[in-house]
Amino acid sequence: MTVPVGATYAPGSPLDWSEPLLPGTVVLDDRVAPNGPWSGVIAQGQVLTIVDVGGNQSADCLIYNAHDTAERYSVPDTLAWQGNAYVRTGTVLRSNEGRPLMTVVANEIDRQDTIGGACGKESNTLRYGHHVAHQHGCRENFLAEGARRGLDARDLVSNLNWFMNVPVEADGALGIVDGMSAPGKRVAVRAETDVLVLVSNCPQMNNPCNDFNPTPLRMIVVQP
Ligand SMILES: [Zn+2]
Repeated sequence: MTVPVGATYAPGSPLDWSEPLLPGTVVLDDRVAPNGPWSGVIAQGQVLTIVDVGGNQSADCLIYNAHDTAERYSVPDTLAWQGNAYVRTGTVLRSNEGRPLMTVVANEIDRQDTIGGACGKESNTLRYGHHVAHQHGCRENFLAEGARRGLDARDLVSNLNWFMNVPVEADGALGIVDGMSAPGKRVAVRAETDVLVLVSNCPQMNNPCNDFNPTPLRMIVVQP
C-alpha cells in the first residue's frame, strides 16, 4: 500500500521514512497510509522494522501463528511471563498457548504499550459522544484487513500499541498521554515462528495518541 495523494496529515508535518533498524536483505517494504490497515506474513527469523514516520503515531498490532490463526498474541501470557507491564527490548510476545510468536530485538523509545487496547466505533461513541459514531477506528481496520486473511470479529483480541504512551501510574491508574516517539523512531521485532501480523494505523482523533495528526507508517521486513 502506498500513501495516497491528499493524505490527512497537516501540511508541513515532519516525516522521516528512516531505514531498517537491523541489517539484512529487504524482502518487503510497505508504506501504510494514515488511518489505513496493513497485514503481512513474516517468516521465522525475519525481522520487521516498524517506522513511526511522522512521530507519535499509534500502530495497533495483532499477531497470529501464520499456519493456525487460533494461536494468537496474548497480552496476559506476555506480561505474566516477563513480570512487567511494559514492552521493551527483549520482550517475548507470546501466544495464548504460551509460545513465543515474536521478540522485540530493538526499540528506540523507552517503552511500548500493550494495555491500552484498540479504538473502535462503539468505544469512541461511549467515550467521546454520539457525534463521533461515523469515525472508523482500529477495530474496523482490523476487521477489514483481517477479512482478507480469513479472520473475523471472533479473532480480534487485546493488542499491542506500538509508539503509544500508556503510563501505569504509582496507584495503578492508566493514562493515554502525549507520546514519547518522534519522526523516524523505530521498533524491530523478530519472528520466532511464521507469523501473520495485522496492523491498524490508528485513525483516532479524540485523544492525544496520534498527536491529533495521523501520519504514515513504514513496514520493512529483512532477512538477516
Ligand atoms: Zn486506534
